[in-house]
Amino acid sequence: MKRALAVYPGSFDPITNGHIYIAECASAIFDEVRLSILVNPQKRSTFSVDERHTMAQEALSGLPNVTVGHFEGLLVDYLRQQNSQVIIRGLRAVSDFEYEFQMALMNRRLAPEIETFFIVTDPKYSYLSSSTVRDVFQFGGPVQDMVPCGVFRRLRERFLSRLPGTG
Ligand code: ADP
Repeated sequence: MKRALAVYPGSFDPITNGHIYIAECASAIFDEVRLSILVNPQKRSTFSVDERHTMAQEALSGLPNVTVGHFEGLLVDYLRQQNSQVIIRGLRAVSDFEYEFQMALMNRRLAPEIETFFIVTDPKYSYLSSSTVRDVFQFGGPVQDMVPCGVFRRLRERFLSRLPGTG
């Protein structure tokens, strides 16, 4: 089938319930979905690629047709290697749209055979991003219901000693 594998790319630093929602929706539409972590040596990340990979794999283990991978370089080159013609992206708000639209058009210019497929988030995740989760957690805010439990545990391991009032 032509559109059997869809690639869901992103930083996933770390994966949140908003990302999981998009992966679930995509898994109901496509035969296989590969959540693919962008390895960007120029961008400082909180978690290593291996940690992000493990957290995503744990969080998505209930979805048999969702796999986790990672890639470096141009997204369209990765899709061609994977023999995929669909990029999945999530939209939270109008503010996401401008950047996503630009990227989708650039990717179409680079690879006309590849289509970007947008999935609109559930309103309850519209405020959620990896960076807000990290920021809220670091200042002691409750993020348990925003991320899977494996991510919460690793956030604690990573930041607990630095939380206000804990040393
Ligand atoms: P990137 O750095 O590529 O934006 P992210 O990990 O921040 O990587 O996001 C990956 C994808 O998931 C993007 O399409 C983003 O819009 C989407 N996304 C992030 N958070 C949410 C959310 N709360 N609901 C729906 N989609 C989301």
